[in-house]
Amino acid sequence: MAEYQTPEFHPAFEEYCEAIWELKEDQVDVIQARVAERLRVSRPAVSEMIKRMQAEGFVTVDGTTINLTEAGQRLAERVVRRHRLAERLLTDILGLSWADAHVEAGKWEHVISEPVEEAINRLLDNPTTCPHGNPIPGSGYTPPDVVPLSEVEVGGQFTVNRIPEELEFTPGLLDFLEDATVQPGYEGEVTAVSPDGTVTVEIEGKHVGIGSFAAERILVTASPAPTDGTDGKEASSATASA
Ligand SMILES: [Zn+2]
Repeated sequence: MAEYQTPEFHPAFEEYCEAIWELKEDQVDVIQARVAERLRVSRPAVSEMIKRMQAEGFVTVDGTTINLTEAGQRLAERVVRRHRLAERLLTDILGLSWADAHVEAGKWEHVISEPVEEAINRLLDNPTTCPHGNPIPGSGYTPPDVVPLSEVEVGGQFTVNRIPEELEFTPGLLDFLEDATVQPGYEGEVTAVSPDGTVTVEIEGKHVGIGSFAAERILVTASPAPTDGTDGKEASSATASA
């Protein structure tokens, strides 16, 4: 009988390091409650696992804030990189929907080996972001200046840059955004903002209402207002630089 080989890293450690890294990426406070929500596990389970990860040197805890150590950071970046590369492969080559690719990539990220990772990267010609626009660690990507969609004024033009990871975990949202062509690289215009913060955009000829939670998180590059002379009020509001 073959001797049992301890995996190089416990998959749960990978999941936790990834979740902590991505919460920080989305500028969410990294406390146990947020980790529990992200991973859909109980608070006692998180508390237990964080203790184990502290003992193994993956995290430190400062008051209520959880921080990755250098080892935790390395592990997280490896898993996030594999997740985002897998998403690209699953959508671009295999034709899966955004939502399906996100779920599948959550499994692939734990089993892709270094040579396979390199092969995927070669096949896809060194992609710099996942299909949702989130940077692939190690790809050398420098994001442009972006603002949340909620900050674009009515009549303002924008180009979708990024659907942050936080929104990938919001049930149903990826399908909605993909169907509505709210996808990186597509241009749109804000046509209305309702008092509850819902932003209505026109994109690819479709009018779509985006709730405040998503509108405050979807990142866009804003285009300068058109200078056709009919709107004399904002002559000096140029903020975007291509
Ligand atoms: Zn993604």
